[in-house]
Amino acid sequence: MNDPVLVINCGSSSIKYALVPATADQPRLTGLVERLGSGDALLKGVDSHGDAFTIGLGDVGHVQALRAILERLEGRRPGAVGHRIVHGGERFTRATLIDDDVVAAIEQTSALAPLHNPANLQGIAATRSLFPALPQVAVFDTAFHQSLPPRAYRYALPESLYRDHGIRRYGFHGTSHAFVSARADALSGLSGGWLTAHLGNGCSTAAVWEGKSLDTSMGLTPLEGLVMGTRSGDVDPGLHAHLARQLGWSLERIDEVLNRESGLLGLSGLTNDMRELEAAADRENAGAMLAIEVFCYRIAKSLAALSCALPRLDGIVFTGGIGENSPRVREQVIALLPHFGLDLEPEANLATVRGREARIDVQTPNRPVLWVIPTDEEGRIADETRQLLGETPR
Ligand code: ADP
Repeated sequence: MNDPVLVINCGSSSIKYALVPATADQPRLTGLVERLGSGDALLKGVDSHGDAFTIGLGDVGHVQALRAILERLEGRRPGAVGHRIVHGGERFTRATLIDDDVVAAIEQTSALAPLHNPANLQGIAATRSLFPALPQVAVFDTAFHQSLPPRAYRYALPESLYRDHGIRRYGFHGTSHAFVSARADALSGLSGGWLTAHLGNGCSTAAVWEGKSLDTSMGLTPLEGLVMGTRSGDVDPGLHAHLARQLGWSLERIDEVLNRESGLLGLSGLTNDMRELEAAADRENAGAMLAIEVFCYRIAKSLAALSCALPRLDGIVFTGGIGENSPRVREQVIALLPHFGLDLEPEANLATVRGREARIDVQTPNRPVLWVIPTDEEGRIADETRQLLGETPR
């Protein structure tokens, strides 16, 4: 299929989109509608000349917002739509053509992702009503991690909680871990063992061996694992009961604090934005310095733990807004892993350029390599959509 793929990432109050052409010589159109449902929605994007625009949409819902997006596609018609879907449960192990049965299955998985899957489904409903004839494909954040073995995905809980309620580790950011580990394979000319660190507002690590995810830091929900912008990551599982009993907090309050008031924001008391934290740490702000230290230590600890999943470690890949752009975080993480035999090349680490792949180790033979690889979740969703449609007789 040579037509572009329209990639949609639909949240409850936002729709991110990208029109991804079949070949790299054509520009990609990207943007988002934000503040949906507030009465004052905004469409922000970048056109094919690279110029940014912002348009007030007023009081619109998902369907009207998608119509407005279509009008900004400069007359280019998508040949398919690829949807980013957060949770595919155990049923979806790869990209899947959307039909009524698939919609029902995503609905059934909504209990596992109550904030995300219903919003993703709104996006599917809106695009299906607008483009009834176009093939629509669901690409799941969890699918890449369906290759985890039971020892990695099972919690040590009564078996019935797994069997009857699907309580297990699923992992997220699969599209990103899949993309950067495949790039690391291609760049290194091997089908290797990689530890990948996706560090954005949400953060997770994964252990990938010969193209398959063997373990990852996120679990049943995207709250497990690393310290994130506003999410706590791992805490003592006894914390919830303690907060409820000792402070009288409701479940909703606990959920809110762990998801929205913790992480870098909670630790620093300042911000969840790594750029601002680094600037504050340069001014010796104690909260900012502590937040960065805990953040890096927990990444290193997670990478060390996940290395147990790999038969051989060929290298570490950093990606996401922080992983791609913060030499300080990369350096602090690597300094905490002296037993891995990593050799960071400090100048290469400092000289990385936004949006470009870079190797940042000294390049000693037979040592694990260090890559900075910009993630491209939209490109990967478009590729998986194309690949599936190429295989599907229609
Ligand atoms: P999301 O997970 O929402 O897609 P991103 O991957 O864009 O988010 O990551 C956002 C994070 O990246 C923020 O904490 C931001 O401060 C951080 N970031 C972006 N650029 C830089 C930079 N130059 N230095 C340090 N951190 C950066």
